[in-house]
Amino acid sequence: MTTQERVGEVLHLLQQEFPQAGTRLKWHSVFELLVATILSAQTTDDQVNRITGSLFKKYNKPRDFADLTPEQLEPWIKGCGLYRNKARFIVEASRVIIDRFAGQVPDTMEDLMELPGVGRKTANVILSVGFDKPGLAVDTHVQRVASRLGFTDSDNPEHTEDRLKSLINPGDWGNAHHLFIWHGRNYCQARKPKCPQCPISELCPEIKRAAP
Ligand code: SF4
Repeated sequence: MTTQERVGEVLHLLQQEFPQAGTRLKWHSVFELLVATILSAQTTDDQVNRITGSLFKKYNKPRDFADLTPEQLEPWIKGCGLYRNKARFIVEASRVIIDRFAGQVPDTMEDLMELPGVGRKTANVILSVGFDKPGLAVDTHVQRVASRLGFTDSDNPEHTEDRLKSLINPGDWGNAHHLFIWHGRNYCQARKPKCPQCPISELCPEIKRAAP
């Protein structure tokens, strides 16, 4: 079985295991998704949803945030890690969206990366989840699962992204991102992976090493 075939089989099995896989962030516009994704760094999706539940009732458009100072936004998002940086990123990104992109969140990797606080991971999420375009974000779950499965030999998320993109059809990139995250949360956890219960253990070269 080639690596490409193994990836395809892994995704097939994970799709059966997690038919509901998708983002847990709550959003009603691509701009809200952008804000929620910036807030989600080192914070659980549930916590982000608690914060945005009240935040988006008052502020939900680029103009709303562009008119704030970071200090005015901070109390709203204080429940997040790194909230000071995030407040600055959200305010600055909103201003760039208004000044450079006519108030619309851009829909290309190149333009998204011009927004303060937006790296490849966030840009890929916005492309795939927000615009339904090919995008494969590599977070810690995706990196760990891909490494253990032998789909990448690099710890560098950008290299892993390139490698996974070369192995998976572009139309499946976004789904693969979610499936790897759900698998990483539910079975292939960082400290104690549940290898005996893992639905893809027969396809995993790391099972012996990772098993407790
Ligand atoms: S067998 Fe273990 S290490 Fe391999 S994917 Fe499953 S949980 Fe992860």
